[in-house]
Amino acid sequence: MSTLNADPNCIFCKIIAGQIPSRKVYEDDDVFAFHDIHPWAPVHFLIIPKRHIPSMAQVGAADQALLGKIMMLVPQLALEQGCEPYPQGGYRLVTNTGEQGGQEVHHLHFHVMGGPRPWLRG
Ligand code: AMP
Ligand code: ZN
Repeated sequence: MSTLNADPNCIFCKIIAGQIPSRKVYEDDDVFAFHDIHPWAPVHFLIIPKRHIPSMAQVGAADQALLGKIMMLVPQLALEQGCEPYPQGGYRLVTNTGEQGGQEVHHLHFHVMGGPRPWLRG
């Protein structure tokens, strides 16, 4: 089961475990998605692997299928959550990595941001 590698000090592991509430967007055996608590855009949610991977810096060949699944989910969930269709609509996909990359939560996550502009940030 993919939650075996949970980090007890990780806020996103706690969200996956239901120990911290979140507004869930999607869940399967490997992946969890939920709304960002401080949205930058009308649509702003995070897609995360259930397994605690700190960042893109730790991703390896064994994670190809997991990352592929997440990438396939992006367009589906974006439309389901209210992003407008490409090309007039669309969304921004962001993964901050490390301190200089602006990463604050060290559990790999993909921001999906979209909806009509102007946005708060980004
Ligand atoms: P990053 O800077 O890429 O690590 O982004 C972390 C994101 O997690 C930020 O956009 C936060 O608003 C978001 N965040 C932090 N805590 C929570 C939470 N409890 N529920 C939902 N989103 C959160
Ligand atoms: Zn974690």
